[in-house]
Amino acid sequence: MADYVLSIDQGTTSTRAILFTKQGTIHSQGQLEHEQIFPRAGWVEHDPAEIWNNTREVIGTAIGKGNASPSDIAAIGITNQRETAVVWDKTTGKAVYNAIVWQDTRTDKIVAQLGGDEGPEKYKSVCGLPLATYFAGPKVKWILDNVDGAREKAEAGDLLFGTTDSWVLWNLTGGVDGGVHVTDVTNASRTMLMDLQTLSWDEGIAADMGIPMSMLPEIKSCSEVYGHSTKLGTPIAGILGDQQAATFGQACFEKGMSKNTYGTGNFMLLNTGTEIVPSENGLLTTVCYKIGDQEAIYALEGSIAVTGSLVQWLRDNIGMISDAPQIEDLAKKVDDNGGCYVVPAFSGLFAPYWKDDARGAIVGLTRFVNKHHIARAALESTAFQTREVADAMNADSGVDLAELHVDGGMVANETLMQFQADILGVDVVRPEVAETTALGAAYAAGIAVGFWDGEQDVIDNWNEGKRWSPSMRDGERERLYRNWKKAVTKTFDWVDDDTEADEESAQDGADD
Ligand code: ADP
Repeated sequence: MADYVLSIDQGTTSTRAILFTKQGTIHSQGQLEHEQIFPRAGWVEHDPAEIWNNTREVIGTAIGKGNASPSDIAAIGITNQRETAVVWDKTTGKAVYNAIVWQDTRTDKIVAQLGGDEGPEKYKSVCGLPLATYFAGPKVKWILDNVDGAREKAEAGDLLFGTTDSWVLWNLTGGVDGGVHVTDVTNASRTMLMDLQTLSWDEGIAADMGIPMSMLPEIKSCSEVYGHSTKLGTPIAGILGDQQAATFGQACFEKGMSKNTYGTGNFMLLNTGTEIVPSENGLLTTVCYKIGDQEAIYALEGSIAVTGSLVQWLRDNIGMISDAPQIEDLAKKVDDNGGCYVVPAFSGLFAPYWKDDARGAIVGLTRFVNKHHIARAALESTAFQTREVADAMNADSGVDLAELHVDGGMVANETLMQFQADILGVDVVRPEVAETTALGAAYAAGIAVGFWDGEQDVIDNWNEGKRWSPSMRDGERERLYRNWKKAVTKTFDWVDDDTEADEESAQDGADD
C-alpha cells in the first residue's frame, strides 16, 4: 500500500515537490528557486531547461528526505504557474525561446491588434477572458512572429506549446522518447484558445493568433491518469493550474465558496458550480476544476498581478529589506500609512481594471512619510486590491462574501491579515496547511487512483488554523478605501508611444 502522493508545484518563483500523507499533511519536501529574467522593461522570462532540471532535483530531494521509494507513492499531481508559455521543439526537446511569464507585457501591441474595432472583449463570450497581455495565446504568437525559423518549424509540426504543467509532464513521461503532450481544462482556460462550453480548442481564435493546431496539447480533465513517470513508474494523475489547485485544496467544492491566494500576485476564485457566469465587473470566467468524466465546475476569478512580488521588489530592487518577513517588522513600527499609498501597477493593472498602460506609483508623499509608512503602504496595497476584487465578486454574484479563506506565502504576515480583515469587514481564515496549491494537485491525483475516495476526504482533512476578525471603525475603513481608489487613478494612461524607448533607439544607445 502506498503511503503518499507526490505533488509538483511549478510556481512563478520556485519549484517545489511535496510528499503528502493520506491526512493531507506534509511528509517531506524539496524546493528550488529559479532565475527571474528581465531582459527589458515589462519583459519577464524563465529558462524552461532550468525549470525542468529543478523539477527533477526537488523530486529527488522530497523522496530522499522522506526516505520513500517509488512504490510508496500512489500518484503524482502537477500544479503550475498559469499562462506562462513554453514553445519547444519535439525533435530536440529544447525550448525555442525562454518561457514568457504571465506578468510579461510585451504582447500589448499584439492584443490591441487582435481586438481591432471590437476591442478587448472580442473573444470573451467564447473563452471568458478579455484580451490582455496576461494570457498565453498572444505570447505564443509573439514567439512564432519573433524567433527565427519558429513559424516554419511550427507549421511543419515540429513545435509544441504548453504552459509549464505540459512542459513538466512531457519531460516526466519521456520527452523526445514518447513524452505525453497534455494539459488540463484549467490551464487550457487561461490561453484564450479554449471554448469554455465545449472544453475544446477554438480553431477560429487559434487561426486569428496564427497558432497551428498541431502545437496545442490535448485537453484532459484535472483528475485522471495521463501517463507514467519514466523514472519512477508512478502514474501522473492530476493537473490543476495553481489557483484552481488552491481552490481544490481549500475544499471550495460548493457553489458560492471562495478562496484568496497571496503569492507573487493575488488570485481570488469563487466557485459558480456548473454555471458559466459572465462578469460585468472586471473578473474572469474560468474553469474551476473537472474530475474525470464528471461535469466541469466553473469559477469567477479576480486576478491581481502584483502583491508578494512588490515585497520582492522592495527586497531586490530597492534593498529596503533583506528578506520578505522583514517587511512586517518595518510596517509594525507605525500605526498607519502616514497618508502614503503604493500602487504596484508594474504589469499594468489586472482585475478589476484591465489597464495595460498603467504603471506603478507611490502617491501621497510628504516630508512626514518614512520607510515604515512605505513598508506599511506596500502591505496595505495587497489588502486594498483584494477589497476591490471582493467588491466585484459581490456585484457579479449578487451574494456578499461571508468570510475569506486565504493561503499562499504572504499569509504568514499577520499584520497584513489583520489589515485585510479590517478593510474587508469580514473574517479572514487561514487553514492549518497553508500549502493548499500543492495539496490541491495531490488530491486531484490521489482521487484519480483511489488513494482518496473523493471530495469528502478533502473536506474532512481541512482544518482551520487561524482567524482574524475586523476591528476597524466603518468610517475609517471607507476613508482609507476611498483614498486607495483615488491613488489607483493616478497610475492610469502612463504608457504612451513615447514612454518607453523603442527597440531602435535602445539599440542606438547600446552602440554609442
Ligand atoms: P508563488 O507560489 O507565487 O511563487 P508563494 O505562495 O510561495 O508564491 O509566496 C511567495 C511570495 O510571498 C513572495 O512574493 C514573497 O515576497 C511573499 N512573502 C513571503 N513571506 C512574506 C511575509 N512574511 N510578508 C510579506 N510577503 C511575504
